[in-house]
Amino acid sequence: ALPPIKGDVRFNDVSFKYEENGPMILQHVSFHATPGQSIALVGPTGAGKSTVINLLSRFYNVTDGEILIDGVNINQVTLKSLRQQMGVMLQDTFIFSGTILDNIRYGKLDATEEEVIAAAKVVRADDFIRHLKDGYHTELQERGSTLSAGQRQLIAFARTLLIDPRILILDEATAAIDTQTEILLQQGLNALLKGRTSFIIAHRLSTIQNADQIFVIDHGEIVERGSHATL
Ligand code: ATP
Ligand code: MG
Repeated sequence: ALPPIKGDVRFNDVSFKYEENGPMILQHVSFHATPGQSIALVGPTGAGKSTVINLLSRFYNVTDGEILIDGVNINQVTLKSLRQQMGVMLQDTFIFSGTILDNIRYGKLDATEEEVIAAAKVVRADDFIRHLKDGYHTELQERGSTLSAGQRQLIAFARTLLIDPRILILDEATAAIDTQTEILLQQGLNALLKGRTSFIIAHRLSTIQNADQIFVIDHGEIVERGSHATL
């Protein structure tokens, strides 16, 4: 099992292909994220951004090279112990029919209502929830069709904060949002990121501006890296 981690992540010369006889999709990807750093992954469609994240969460195993978390090769630990310390937020937040409360504590079923509200406050979700008909007890439709894209994202932030993982993965939604929602999401995200190592497939400029390191990926390679100030 992977012991409790600090969140140091290294890719050492990682190459990868999905199919045995298929093309290399990632080629010689190397980087080091120190605990607490936020990494933004940007680049054109098909470049390999989601693939980087698929490998880190071990949905697939690397073809060549190695991925180390706190110096431990992720192939040498149980999947369960690895995933327990990783919060994965994909583009479409998973919402089931049930209350807001239950949707937020889905990853930590024993969380009390107070804990849920405290988490929602930290990530700036509390305000919109209080304005719903039944507040935290409002029933949601499956897939969250009665919520906006930004609201679904805030639910995902609160849910992930409750789980309290050291490593965060976020595939940012591409849905267009207004400026005010963008500011709110950025505040919520910053609160969630604090003290965690994060990998964000970034579509919003504000996310990119806030990242400690930006990796530009193209055709499976990191073609540029730096901060917003240096790129
Ligand atoms: P987008 O911005 O569109 O999400 P991306 O940068 O996330 O793109 P990836 O999903 O990592 O790109 O895909 C990289 C390459 O790998 C693409 O050429 C894609 O067709 C291929 N690919 C992705 N998933 C698979 C799969 N399961 N099997 C085979 N090839 C795949
Ligand atoms: Mg992708």
